[in-house]
Amino acid sequence: MNIDDFDLFDAHIHLSATEFNSSRLDILNYLKVSRTLAFNVSETLNDSKITVELSNSKDNLLSFVGIHPKYSQSNLEEFDVFFKDNLDLIDGVGEIGLDKTYIERGIDFENQIITFKHMLQLAEKSKLPVSIHSRDATQEVLDILESYNLPCIMLHWFSGNEDQLKKILNSEILVSFGPALVYSKSLQKLAKLSHPESTIVETDGPVPFSACYEGKIAEPSFIPSIVNKLSNLWSIPFDDILEQISDNLKKYIVVRSN
Ligand SMILES: [Zn+2]
Repeated sequence: MNIDDFDLFDAHIHLSATEFNSSRLDILNYLKVSRTLAFNVSETLNDSKITVELSNSKDNLLSFVGIHPKYSQSNLEEFDVFFKDNLDLIDGVGEIGLDKTYIERGIDFENQIITFKHMLQLAEKSKLPVSIHSRDATQEVLDILESYNLPCIMLHWFSGNEDQLKKILNSEILVSFGPALVYSKSLQKLAKLSHPESTIVETDGPVPFSACYEGKIAEPSFIPSIVNKLSNLWSIPFDDILEQISDNLKKYIVVRSN
């Protein structure tokens, strides 16, 4: 498997989620015919096990394993055993991160930090890329990342402010935009300021999206609409953006040879 074998990229999707049980085969077919590479991310240990199994039987999937901040109370020792036993089959660590909106749901922020740092250590030790969730916690995430040496940091569904974006554009961090970019004016304002060489795209399926997506759950077939929006915002041809995204990922993602 080589990044050059693909034209399109969905840099963050939960293909192991049960919501995709009835459509997964169709999606896998779509990935193949559209030459799309999907970064299949996980939220729990169980999810990670499914991801590794699914991704390793397919050429169009990368397996990202990890504990999502929503599940930060999970048993990390159990996760470590799985991680060590499956290291050869793991392409990245994610979805990991911090989320302050979970505090009111009783998910302790200090505990989220402990789990996040633990996941970053695993990625650093194994020289793996990370896919990060940073809702309402972009600054905390950026501060913590400074202490780690990682081959590739992808800030999934970037929702920081303009100052944070400017700092990121001077680093090697990649910011990822999803379907909401197609209709959200505030995201469009932010993406317009981003640089093509720091930007990637994702769907975050099975999250459902409104407006032009009519509440449908996101699938990799949404990717061209997001690239098209970037093409409008930046006045750069669609194909050039695809090529740039491929270059951005090629620089940092080491794709295993199966
Ligand atoms: Zn996600």
